[in-house]
Amino acid sequence: MEIKRKNTKEIKIGSRKIGSDNAILVQSMTKNKSAQQFLLREEINNLISAGCEIIRVAITDAECIKIIKKFIKEGLFKNNPIVADIQYDHRLALDSLKAGADCIRINPGNIGGIEKTEILIEEAKKMNACIRIGVNSGSVDKKSLKKNNFNKTEALLENTLEYVRFFENCNFYNFKVSAKASSVTDSIYLYRTLSEKIDYPLHLGITESGNEFSGAIKSSVGIGILLNEGIGDTIRVSLTSDSVKEVKAGYVILSSLGLRSYGVNLISCPTCGRTKADLKYYAENVEKITAGIKKPLTIAVMGCIVNGPGEAKEADIGIAFGEKKAAIFVKGKTIKRVNEADVLKLFNEELGKLIENKDSVSKNF
Ligand code: SF4
Repeated sequence: MEIKRKNTKEIKIGSRKIGSDNAILVQSMTKNKSAQQFLLREEINNLISAGCEIIRVAITDAECIKIIKKFIKEGLFKNNPIVADIQYDHRLALDSLKAGADCIRINPGNIGGIEKTEILIEEAKKMNACIRIGVNSGSVDKKSLKKNNFNKTEALLENTLEYVRFFENCNFYNFKVSAKASSVTDSIYLYRTLSEKIDYPLHLGITESGNEFSGAIKSSVGIGILLNEGIGDTIRVSLTSDSVKEVKAGYVILSSLGLRSYGVNLISCPTCGRTKADLKYYAENVEKITAGIKKPLTIAVMGCIVNGPGEAKEADIGIAFGEKKAAIFVKGKTIKRVNEADVLKLFNEELGKLIENKDSVSKNF
């Protein structure tokens, strides 16, 4: 069943567009400090290779501005816009805009209030930049909190809507909104309510969601439920882990809902008493072989020949294991039976043919 997306306004961030019927963009935030310039550049390049479409960088001091300015001049963010993330110091936000950042992420509540926010809005207009109003449960306005009987979620909602109206009153519309809570249910409530009340693009995320395992699950539940309701124009899966994994998780969420396809969608069976091979080993190796493929491709790795091809009939190519043997199948049909020892090599050859490349896709096998 196709998901009907809510029709939001289209905004522009560098070379990309967000909202309306544009693709839901996948973003991540760098983990390296700007002072570690070489590591930061490497991380950004890895993110771009993994398909990250918007890259957020924490700006903590003047040194960070110098570094992002240099990266911008080099064209590092030409196709993958940079969002400068600033807390508290509006001068850093102002300098980030002057340095050419495509977007700044600010929380008007902690950047110096309405007056400082207005200065930033005027600069963003001048620079043709975008702003993300990023409010989260850790930084709710005290007045709103009191007014809402210390209900953080309601206070956060009130704050966010006030900021949206303020931006409109300043005749600035090139902005997106995020309102994050670490509780999945609160986040869903917040975004659902925002989606009813405003039609600016929404950036979805579950803040401080946890490590690789629990974070990916919490994000999939929260972001997934919202996306399924047609809510959300850009997403970030926050993980206490490698930023590239955030991007991969983002695409898995989107592709599992049929909203995007990017690179390989690996299907592997959970294994059971019928499994005929070390499936974890083979699934990991197939993942390595196919890591560089950007073309959407579904690949199945199944533990038995009985259910393998049938269960993975949607796959473009796959392997199903028998006793010391394996079958390679394409589009659900078995096309080759091989010895287990040769399976990765021959799979790689078939994969190469499938993606219309005479050479093998990977040099590993
Ligand atoms: S495909 Fe075969 S081995 Fe894998 S879980 Fe299903 S029955 Fe078990």
